Amino acid sequence: MSVKGKTAVITGSNSGIGLGIAQELAQAGANVVLNSYTDNKADHALADEISRVTNTKARYIQADLSKGDQARALIEQAGQVDILINNAGIQHVAPIDEFPAEKWDMIIAIMLSSVFHTTAAAIPMMRKAGWGRVINISSAHGLTASPYKSAYVSAKHGVVGMTKVVALETAREPITANAICPGYVRTPLVEAQIPDTAKKYDMTEEEVIEKVLLERQPSKEFATTEQLGGVAAFLCSDAAAQITGTTISVDGGWTAL
Ligand code: NAD
Repeated sequence: MSVKGKTAVITGSNSGIGLGIAQELAQAGANVVLNSYTDNKADHALADEISRVTNTKARYIQADLSKGDQARALIEQAGQVDILINNAGIQHVAPIDEFPAEKWDMIIAIMLSSVFHTTAAAIPMMRKAGWGRVINISSAHGLTASPYKSAYVSAKHGVVGMTKVVALETAREPITANAICPGYVRTPLVEAQIPDTAKKYDMTEEEVIEKVLLERQPSKEFATTEQLGGVAAFLCSDAAAQITGTTISVDGGWTAL
């Protein structure tokens, strides 16, 4: 089974890893649905460009995934979902006793609850079509922890748990559910952490990259959005049909430490 002609919805895909996965799946022939909470010309232009380059149908659908009804509406508006990539994410870093409650709620809503809503809405479509792939973008922080990231680490661990449940509930069907756990990938989400961390530890930005960000990544290299797109495409292939309910780390050895 190839992804040719399948519809893939990738949440949070006007940037970073989501956009990389969308481009990779479109290259392989899937019709992709891009998403974010904004509704700018540039968002729609990204989809048009993917359509033009890959000769597939690409669309952009605005939905704020901090709201459950909008997460479900994204799936309904897509019409058909064969491949669901739950990728949207944000970050906030603070000690737990100073962590703003509204940031906690927002991170859990976007990164954990939205995965519940999109998956719940998409599984019946996959069942009807007789094939489906749920791919959740968790993190090395879905398997290990770091200080000051209570909401992020909790959401990412939660996503790994939800992945296992969905895999068990669909185990007798041609549907799989897996989580990809990237280490650091140099995307806008990571770029945004560099200046603050530099200020906090009185370091240059280069020192932050080497000594803080890549400190736990033994390869000392960022993973790339293309590599993550390739892993997602592999999980959609026949070779991966019996891979379900598990995590695939793309972290340069982080979780081997
Ligand atoms: P990014 O900031 O480039 O992308 C995040 C995407 O989520 C953007 O498209 C953004 O618009 C979207 N988004 C944010 N809030 C949203 C909302 N309310 N509704 C809809 N969309 C929303 O970041 P990224 O690094 O590409 O991260 C993508 C995913 O990968 C996240 O879940 C992140 O936790 C995970 N991840 C990233 C890294 C890394 O090093 N970059 C490592 C491990 C896991």
